Amino acid sequence: MLNKVASTPSGTTTVCTGPWLDSHADELGVPVVVQRKVQIWFTPKTDAFDASRCPAFLVDRAAFIETFYGFPDLGDGVKAAFHTGGAITSMDRIDRVVSTDDVAPIRAALETWMPGAGDRICSAAVCQYAMTPDEHFIVGVHPREPSVIVAAGFSGHGFKFSPAIGEIIVDLAVDGASRLDTDFLAPNRRLGITQQAPERGGA
Ligand SMILES: Cc1cc2nc3c(=O)[nH]c(=O)nc-3n(C[C@H](O)[C@H](O)[C@H](O)COP(=O)(O)OP(=O)(O)OC[C@H]3O[C@@H](n4cnc5c(N)ncnc54)[C@H](O)[C@@H]3O)c2cc1C
Repeated sequence: MLNKVASTPSGTTTVCTGPWLDSHADELGVPVVVQRKVQIWFTPKTDAFDASRCPAFLVDRAAFIETFYGFPDLGDGVKAAFHTGGAITSMDRIDRVVSTDDVAPIRAALETWMPGAGDRICSAAVCQYAMTPDEHFIVGVHPREPSVIVAAGFSGHGFKFSPAIGEIIVDLAVDGASRLDTDFLAPNRRLGITQQAPERGGA
């Protein structure tokens, strides 16, 4: 996994390469796959979706093909995207071009939930989630390399946990163990039989 390891005061190295870890994750036990995510910003028809009047939202309804979320207009349009779903891919093959097939279901969901919000597209972007099968993170000592700490597989919800993850990594690097219960994040934790890795595709 590591070609060059710089020496550090704690004698450990932390690998936190996000979705770029995927091709090395098989060494861990818990697989990581890259999932393509499309986000669209729309210019709404009215000012009803300004941040001063409209909250951020996450909607999980049978009417939508996937869990749907977005942000009000903070000056750059209403952001809308699906939290779940998306093609399984890899960082060297991910399709960065936003197509009409990407836009249509997002716009339909937005117009169903917030009519008038999806009037015109102002921008769009493709990003990626680094998914584990159980959607828990991978934070712990590498099963075969005791001097390597892995922090990855944040499954689209890692940002808000940054302070706790940082604390765990420091504990592992300095003391060799975390004061927090991190068994459910272990790189080689046991997965349920329904939590096998999806196949890597080419989108
Ligand atoms: C559209 C979108 C919306 C999101 N919304 C939320 C949210 O609302 N709340 C939330 O909690 N989380 C959210 N997330 C998830 C959150 O952004 C991720 O969980 C988090 O960024 C993962 O952090 P990371 O450090 O593992 O990976 P990254 O942030 O991807 O960082 C990995 C870094 O490693 C570097 N790197 C890779 N390979 C190497 C190498 N060989 N050498 C040196 N550096 C390397 C990369 O350049 C990169 O800077 C969202 C993600 C996306 C894509």
